[in-house]
Amino acid sequence: MEKTDILSLNGRELETALLPFSAPRYRAAQIFDWLHKKRVPEFDGMTNIPKTFLLQLSDNFVIFDCNVEKKLKSMYDDTVKYLFSLYDGELIECVVMKYKYGSTICISTQVGCKMGCGFCASGASGFKRNLMPSEMLAQVYAAQRELDITLSHVVLMGMGEPLDNFDNVVKFFELISDPAGQNISMRKISVSTSGIVPRIYELAKLKLGVTLSVSLHAPNDEIRSKLMPINKQWGIDELIEACRAYTKATSRRISFEYIMIKGVNDSDECALLLAKRLKGMLCHVNLIPVNEVPGKTNSSSGDNRIRAFSSILAEKGINATVRRSLGSDINASCGQLRRNSMHSLNNQRESDLVV
Ligand code: SAH
Ligand code: SF4
Repeated sequence: MEKTDILSLNGRELETALLPFSAPRYRAAQIFDWLHKKRVPEFDGMTNIPKTFLLQLSDNFVIFDCNVEKKLKSMYDDTVKYLFSLYDGELIECVVMKYKYGSTICISTQVGCKMGCGFCASGASGFKRNLMPSEMLAQVYAAQRELDITLSHVVLMGMGEPLDNFDNVVKFFELISDPAGQNISMRKISVSTSGIVPRIYELAKLKLGVTLSVSLHAPNDEIRSKLMPINKQWGIDELIEACRAYTKATSRRISFEYIMIKGVNDSDECALLLAKRLKGMLCHVNLIPVNEVPGKTNSSSGDNRIRAFSSILAEKGINATVRRSLGSDINASCGQLRRNSMHSLNNQRESDLVV
């Protein structure tokens, strides 16, 4: 018999799942507390539950956990990157970043990615499978345990396309924000998408209030379609329309991600066109130096070009910032560590890292 993934169950589902074991009703709340507030990764750690019941639990349920395969600490800041293995041996990554206002974790939502963006390491080795809500939670729980910290913010910006794993991601939002668990408010959660337009409308309809980040990366369809195959399915006009609908439904500001690729999307004309497209929107543009991925030809625009691009946006009234490049020495950009590890765990620039 296949065991039930207990970490993916909400309080109500857990109560129902425990009915056949004729336990007192308060047992479900106790177990939910152990799993989601105290974050214990095994049944044995649940010290106020009778041993016989724990045996029944472990016979029928499984707690998915993440095992640390590799931990890299940046020499320049407090950024930590984990390579985790899952129950089936698949590898995923997550990054913990410390800011003045608290600590943020960037988690993966899929093993690999189907979207095939030309500049990204995550899609380069193809798509393997979706992550369950439990496996997204397990990244948050394992990192907090390992670092002995409390995380204040969660971003779904690691490996994978979150809106291509929609139901599991929405369940993750429900579980991570549960007051009986981690209680991280929806306002402190961001989800990044390459632009699956129908799913942006679906998310808007749910009115959860999570921050939506959209990987735009280009001001017109010609450039965007070359960088991101998804643009051939839903072009920029449709995407921006969906973003407006999201803002209208949630009153949340959209964050547009824009990687700066030398000679591709970083000209003054691109900045002017981008400003024109985003005029009047409740939004913010994040300019990101491209993280060079071995085997990919893109190189990053220099600091001066990025500053000039940012100034044009500012002159035209578009709020823009240049993203601080945290953990640049530890391949903090999504998918790179897994990719390197799959090729050879030894080919890392180990000498640059404090492990
Ligand atoms: N699939 C989602 C979320 C994961 S990617 C998305 O595409 O939005 C998270 C962010 O990292 C995206 O903005 C993506 O475009 C960016 N990214 C991917 N590869 C990068 C690279 N080599 N350098 C800089 N940013 C990169
Ligand atoms: Fe997938 Fe996002 Fe990478 Fe594109 S940028 S391949 S959507 S993870």
